[in-house]
Amino acid sequence: MSDLPLQTDVLVIGAGAAGLMCASVAGRRGRSVLVLDHANKVGKKILMSGGGRCNFTNLYTAPENFYSRNPHFCKSALARYTQWDFIALVEKHGIPYHEKTLGQLFCDNKSRDIVDLLLSECRDSRVQIRTRCSIFSIEPQEKGFCVRTSLGEAHCESLVIATGGLSIPTMGATGFGYEVARQFALNIIDTRPALVPFTLHRRQLEQQEELPGSALAVAASCDAGSFNEQLLFTHRGLSGPAVLQISSHWREGRAVDFDLAPGRDLAQWLGEQRAERPNIHLHNALAELWSKKLVQYFLQQRKIASLPLKQYTQVKLRDIGEQLQHWQLVPAGTEGYRTAEVTLGGVDTDEISSRTMECRKQPGLYFIGEVLDVTGWLGGYNFQWAWASGHAAGEVA
Ligand SMILES: Cc1cc2nc3c(=O)[nH]c(=O)nc-3n(C[C@H](O)[C@H](O)[C@H](O)COP(=O)(O)OP(=O)(O)OC[C@H]3O[C@@H](n4cnc5c(N)ncnc54)[C@H](O)[C@@H]3O)c2cc1C
Repeated sequence: MSDLPLQTDVLVIGAGAAGLMCASVAGRRGRSVLVLDHANKVGKKILMSGGGRCNFTNLYTAPENFYSRNPHFCKSALARYTQWDFIALVEKHGIPYHEKTLGQLFCDNKSRDIVDLLLSECRDSRVQIRTRCSIFSIEPQEKGFCVRTSLGEAHCESLVIATGGLSIPTMGATGFGYEVARQFALNIIDTRPALVPFTLHRRQLEQQEELPGSALAVAASCDAGSFNEQLLFTHRGLSGPAVLQISSHWREGRAVDFDLAPGRDLAQWLGEQRAERPNIHLHNALAELWSKKLVQYFLQQRKIASLPLKQYTQVKLRDIGEQLQHWQLVPAGTEGYRTAEVTLGGVDTDEISSRTMECRKQPGLYFIGEVLDVTGWLGGYNFQWAWASGHAAGEVA
């Protein structure tokens, strides 16, 4: 006996950010909508996001904040459902929020507010949601699809794949969306963990064993990317927003450059300190920029002895400033999908209409959210993509 409505207009697989948005928008158009998820509850990633406060969008969202083999693909959906549209929805539901930094909007209370918003919109649109539902197979029919599941069989006209990426498998992430793409012979851009901490080689880790918990502002650069944010030392390596951001540009074996005093010419600054305070020791002067532990580490690492500034020649002090300003290292790797916030790559956007998210080869089949080869920066951009792509599909599916 099937526990599911036998026929539905729209079947959404994945009750995450994109899937719930899509379902509510399609339901509002009068479509009958069924959402299926294998997890025990909906929106698990939303609940754990933003440190429990969900960074639900970014004031400055623009296509430039996304990685994709086709950087133009995200433009249409982002323009038609903007950060301002989602903010209006948050305000309609009376959810208190604040800007933390760099345009990042967080809930004042809990991420749960955003899940409740989506569930309330879905209820208003008469969307049916079933959790703990495993999907066994998808068979295209003459019109629509037949989906076999652990709760029975469902037939639908439009099938929306919203199963996200591979990050945090313990939260229910699977490669399901990519398997569906393969079933329909769609190209997939190679996937890799992104917005993820770096691990370091054992020798580097031993050198920084006093540092876990220490943080400083840096400019992290690799390849074409550069981000001015915080760097955090951890027991396994390096993390913090600067590292998470630059991890999306990093590839195995490449070096990452850190400017340890962004916006400041350290050599010039030390020269000024020498003129003003000739008797101050180098480590005490630097303690105005970094914590004592970090000063000691950076000096030891470069084998620089700390003397009163007047004892260095101007040339030597300039050299010290330049050495201290730049730190280059080759990470051993990343922490992988276990802790990555997102997955780079995914279903090739060339296979998908940028207006509707419908698959070109298989009418009636839609892909939305993180399963697509569209990945945002850290800072609320990934949810904005989930809302925008979900909305685009919801308007037509
Ligand atoms: C720790 C963490 C913190 C984050 N914080 C932020 C943040 O603050 N701001 C931000 O913008 N982004 C953040 N992100 C990224 C953001 O969560 C994702 O980009 C976003 O959730 C993607 O939405 P989605 O709907 O495509 O996928 P998801 O939200 O991952 O939803 C996919 C759904 O599909 C279901 N599913 C998967 N496989 C199957 C299957 N085989 N059968 C049935 N159902 C299946 C899952 O259970 C899940 O409910 C964070 C990510 C993590 C891991």
